[in-house]
Amino acid sequence: MHPNFPFSVHWTLVFVKLMIQVFNELTRPNIRQMKPYSAVEIPCRVKLDANEAPYGLVPGLLEVETNRYPDPEARELRHHLAQTLNVGTENIILGNGSDEVIYHLITALGGPVLYPTPTFVMYGIIAQTLAEATVPVPLDDNLDLNAAAMTEAIKRHNPRLIFLSSPNNPTGNNFDYETMLEILRLSRGIVIIDEAYQPYSTRPSVIPLMARYNNLYVMRTLSKVGLAALRVGLLIGAADGIAELNKVRLPYNVNALSQRLALAALRDGGLIEHNIKTVITERQRLFEGLAHINNITTYPSEANFILIKTNNAKTLHQRLLKNGILVKDMTSALEDCLRITIGKPEENTEILSALEEIKGAKL
Ligand SMILES: *Cc1c(COP(=O)(O)O)cnc(C)c1O
Repeated sequence: MHPNFPFSVHWTLVFVKLMIQVFNELTRPNIRQMKPYSAVEIPCRVKLDANEAPYGLVPGLLEVETNRYPDPEARELRHHLAQTLNVGTENIILGNGSDEVIYHLITALGGPVLYPTPTFVMYGIIAQTLAEATVPVPLDDNLDLNAAAMTEAIKRHNPRLIFLSSPNNPTGNNFDYETMLEILRLSRGIVIIDEAYQPYSTRPSVIPLMARYNNLYVMRTLSKVGLAALRVGLLIGAADGIAELNKVRLPYNVNALSQRLALAALRDGGLIEHNIKTVITERQRLFEGLAHINNITTYPSEANFILIKTNNAKTLHQRLLKNGILVKDMTSALEDCLRITIGKPEENTEILSALEEIKGAKL
């Protein structure tokens, strides 16, 4: 403590407590009610819980002028992405991860915000943070969009924003194509198709559909293909909408190191492509391996993770962790389900043998 500090430690603590009370009372009710998003780091040897790619990329040396602000428009990176995706630079806005893009969308457009559940949790969390109404619509028994329930909810709530994650996290499937088109036709609001996992999917991107539906915006991220540390997400859409969103974006939201590293990694795209192919091959091997283990139901996946259902999922989660293997406990959203991210071949082999051992003999 600085000797000139006017309070004793004791009084400082009392003071801090009072301040917290004042802050609590002043906090908007919708924020006060929220539980903080838990991003706890559980120590483990084999990390298969967060849908990260198992390989990082080493794209060469940095030459960043650290005394200068980054390019506020990230022009070079946006230009490169635009060329790769065959759209204009004015059709792309970047976020500090696609999480931030979601923030910008809900800030600019407001709610109601409609999404099927279970899905990526940030749509709901960010809407609540911004005190916007949410309309969660349960998926059907096949974990696909419930077309009737979606239609009904769109008509009743007239959402300003609809988020469709396809492939969906945590279920791993692409949503029925015709139902997505129907939603685009029916909705008077903006429909975001979140293609975070598209690079792992057999279905092509919906980006070309933007020519037919002016309310379609497509979200992408570099996080699931080996660049999660950089925090770069993007939204692709009509230039007028992108320009509106640009008004709520803070100028330097993607830092200079991330801009530079993302560009270097994308220019040397071969490595990213190679790693994606490896994960897809491993997904098939893990899927087949899981199918042979007692009492595990495996859902087909178009993403870099596999959802499984099993009896006593929570116990299984804990037993894997005792073996140093961390997977994602999905039981609060999907009864008895765990989500396993595809790891390196040796990690996938390890989780397969751990599961075989825990679950008893193979079928
Ligand atoms: C992981 C994930 C994101 C978030 O990506 P960031 O760019 O890392 O913020 C967005 N959407 C879905 C469906 C995800 O699973």
